[in-house]
Amino acid sequence: MNPPREPAASAVVPMWVDGKPRAASSQRTGEVTNPATGAVTRRVPLCNAQDIDAAVKAAAAAFPGWRDTPPLRRARVMQKFLQLLQANQKDIARLVTGEHGKTLPDATGSVQRGIEVVEFACGIPHLLKGEHSEDVGTGVDCHTLRQPVGVCAGVTPFNFPVMVPLWMFPVAIACGNTFVLKPSEKVPSASMRMAELLKDAGLPDGVLNVVHGDKEAVDAILGHPGVNAVSFVGSTPIAKTIYETCARNGKRVQALGGAKNHAVVLPDADLEFTADALTGAAYGSAGERCMAISAVVAVGAAADPLVALLKKKAEAIMVGPGEKEGVDMGPLVTRQHRDKVAGYIDQGVKEGAQLVVDGRDCKVPGHESGFFLGTTLFDNVTPGMKIYQDEIFGPVLVVLRAKTLEDAIALVNRNPYANGTAIFTESGGAARRFENEIQVGMVGVNVPIPVPVAYFSFGGWKSSLFGDLHVHGAEGVKFYTRTKAITTRWPHQDTPAPGFNMPTLG
Ligand code: NAD
Repeated sequence: MNPPREPAASAVVPMWVDGKPRAASSQRTGEVTNPATGAVTRRVPLCNAQDIDAAVKAAAAAFPGWRDTPPLRRARVMQKFLQLLQANQKDIARLVTGEHGKTLPDATGSVQRGIEVVEFACGIPHLLKGEHSEDVGTGVDCHTLRQPVGVCAGVTPFNFPVMVPLWMFPVAIACGNTFVLKPSEKVPSASMRMAELLKDAGLPDGVLNVVHGDKEAVDAILGHPGVNAVSFVGSTPIAKTIYETCARNGKRVQALGGAKNHAVVLPDADLEFTADALTGAAYGSAGERCMAISAVVAVGAAADPLVALLKKKAEAIMVGPGEKEGVDMGPLVTRQHRDKVAGYIDQGVKEGAQLVVDGRDCKVPGHESGFFLGTTLFDNVTPGMKIYQDEIFGPVLVVLRAKTLEDAIALVNRNPYANGTAIFTESGGAARRFENEIQVGMVGVNVPIPVPVAYFSFGGWKSSLFGDLHVHGAEGVKFYTRTKAITTRWPHQDTPAPGFNMPTLG
């Protein structure tokens, strides 16, 4: 097994093509920063069409051999990859903290959620089984096969540099596809490490390739005739464009977008438990989670005591560099994003929301150039305000007030985003009604971040997902395979010969 290879501070991260590192032909590069210090730690190539073509060609050349490799052997590569990921989990988490900023325990947890998808992919021989019906007509049988779609591509966001790529490529590859991954240019290193580990696990060259870059690289992927399917996770406007472009170009596509996740809190909820759950869900990973709770809908008498508890807990959160023990919340990913989130706090004040906790003056001694922002809490927010309408993607929690559960459900359902939501209550009847009527893809009952485990599928509704299939679980296997239905007859003397009328087989 190769030891971890950390690029030097001034190094340009290579691409990973045909089983080895490869310099990009593009001369454009971007900066990768350590959000806790503000320092540029490495550079990343912003690949051009020629770079993408090289990766797609490597994936296309590897496809026939990998497609014809028995699923059990593909699963054995995944089993080895699983062991290597487990053995290297801490190092990989450190790469995440170093480029994203989230705390080390949080990064380790996110790597674990990705590892669980690899565990799921190890069961691929079973998952690829088709259906078989005997005697659909006299002496006629029908069976289905699940076959890989070919070269698949994944375009992933900055906030989960390991987990989101692992939602995609282990399932795609286990199904017999080959893959081109384009991770976020802000956090490129963990993907490179995973590609090395997969090679060490025995994956043939060219089956997984990693490219880097921005719109130019993504446009080249979407326009490449050799790419058969695209999985995208990122913000809503880009997800929508990816979906539309892939549809136009005849590619299979699933495009997961942004979110504004609401927690509805009823007066009968255990408010201490609820406030603890919401504090973690709102401010964990500095709010840079697609399943973060960013809006609380406090129903009736729940509002005043809940806001008091949220204030106390938000103020107690320890902000600092992600690798330091005891830190609850790290910096934001870039200075630009930090400033954008701070701008939303200014906007909320101007809009007339009540600023209960203000994170704008947060200082972390010794880390003056880091991209830190403290926790922020707004009360009496209304649906007309930008701080409610927009996905802020930072440590800003807004509280809206509703009179009844019915009003709260209607409010959540009016929001165009529909990734996750949660209800906090002691009432089974209220929870059941919420579960039934809410127009959101993932729902928690006293669970603030209801991310489905790997053997279920993950995905939102409405503006949080364009396409019909969610990621990983059974839907992931469906996305990365095509069904073929085969009807078979073995002629013998007493069956009539096929005629000229519409066959009914009976
Ligand atoms: P982003 O949309 O800016 O970038 C996502 C990916 O798209 C990156 O790889 C990026 O390089 C690429 N990209 C950026 N601009 C592009 C363009 N104009 N054309 C083509 N490609 C482009 O998202 P981000 O800031 O990296 O991540 C945060 C967003 O991702 C949030 O909106 C968050 O809610 C969302 N997200 C959603 C989920 C989910 O499961 N629904 C999960 C994680 C993150």
